[in-house]
Amino acid sequence: MRLVVKYGGTSISAAKDIQAVAKHLNLLSKKHQIVVVCSAVSGTTDDLLEISESIKKENKSRAEQLASKITNRHKQLAKQTIKKSNIQKKLLANLDQDFAELLALIDGMVLLGEVTPRSMDYLISFGERLSIKLISSAINDSGKKSVNLTGKEVGIITDSNFGESKPLIDTTRLRVSKAIDSFFSKKTIPVVGGFTGADQHGHITTFGRGGSDYSATIIGSCIKADEIWLMSDVDGLMTADPKIVKNAKLLKEVSYVEAIEMTLFGAKQIHPRTFEPLLTKKIPMKIRNSFNTKNEGTLVTVSPSPSVKNTVKCVSNVRNNGLIDIQGGSMVGTPGTAAKIFATLAKSEINVMMISQNPSESSITIVVKNSDLDKAVSSLEMELLGKIIKKLDVTTDVAIIALIGSGMRGTVGVASKIFGAIEKNKINVSMITQGSSELNLAFVVKNSDTNAAVRALHNSFALDKIH
Ligand code: ASP
Ligand code: MG
Repeated sequence: MRLVVKYGGTSISAAKDIQAVAKHLNLLSKKHQIVVVCSAVSGTTDDLLEISESIKKENKSRAEQLASKITNRHKQLAKQTIKKSNIQKKLLANLDQDFAELLALIDGMVLLGEVTPRSMDYLISFGERLSIKLISSAINDSGKKSVNLTGKEVGIITDSNFGESKPLIDTTRLRVSKAIDSFFSKKTIPVVGGFTGADQHGHITTFGRGGSDYSATIIGSCIKADEIWLMSDVDGLMTADPKIVKNAKLLKEVSYVEAIEMTLFGAKQIHPRTFEPLLTKKIPMKIRNSFNTKNEGTLVTVSPSPSVKNTVKCVSNVRNNGLIDIQGGSMVGTPGTAAKIFATLAKSEINVMMISQNPSESSITIVVKNSDLDKAVSSLEMELLGKIIKKLDVTTDVAIIALIGSGMRGTVGVASKIFGAIEKNKINVSMITQGSSELNLAFVVKNSDTNAAVRALHNSFALDKIH
């Protein structure tokens, strides 16, 4: 098989874990052709972001302090992980060059006194630049040939939308498949840095936080991989958060569309664009645990085997949101009201998580994160209060409970089962939405009712018996 195996930061943050990863890859490579994609070592991207903040505040010493924290973390990992002294020496020398470049970059940015989106992407690309060297050396140390490449070096070409770039897929496909094929023919394992690429001028770009997942599926689609594995520190997608429901079960198989919904709402977060490259090529993806490789994880495919008949597959929850009920007499039958409301929110960069409007059109209710609530309310008040809006009612600390499963489509009685279970627990529901895809039914309760609601629903749909 052609495999792309992607590791999240927590899977490669301790020497023994990196060694275990190298050993696993060495074994896999005896049967399969593999490309490895890595995130940055845990905490590194956050440190790099803090460096940029320090530069903005003209605090050079803090920026340098953080750079040396990153340096020490990687040097220590290199020394603890790599046993063969020649490999370790080469790795340390290699890392030193990157550290020197990082310091020079900080110098330059401090001199200019500004952080542009372009310099920012260059700065935060260092996490993956360093991690791939560690992993690739660990594979060498285990006795297997390996090279490390950044997204730019492997041939990922993107637009120049720094911080949130998209690949130019045709050029990327040509370059990536050529590069990877040449390593396969030399029986060498390529270790590619996730999260980054370069635009047509050679400037480094990134895909946004968590973007290594997206890198893995881009590469997978370019080389026509048979499977893509996302390795992290969870076993896969679950029927509910196991911290809330003791007997929550691992889901063996879900569809792409279900997985997209689950990762938006659930404990396992995946970069939202990750699934795009898979949809046309229909490449199966596995979500697996690098600390528990005996477990096969969750298989994500176009159409899971029909043996999994459950209407609902997962009950997920997102706490700490705010609900805004927007009321206004002149909203009824006035075209453009919703457009004005959402344009106002978009201008303030507020992400709206849920929307509902009753057919009488007298109010529109939205849900945003608690942390966005103040900004949302004040921008609506400033722009629209007294015009199209008469009144805003705000409720803080609410949770979204979402039931996900494509089996809900066209099945009669799902809603009554859900709200029957909720009613039995005397939980008040303040908003309900269901898209016409019937893939996801979500409603809003008080934060403090979250656990009871999730448990009641897990129970009433017998999700502990899912297979
Ligand atoms: N290192 C990047 C981040 O922390 C990308 C990734 O982890 O996927 O966001
Ligand atoms: Mg990560």
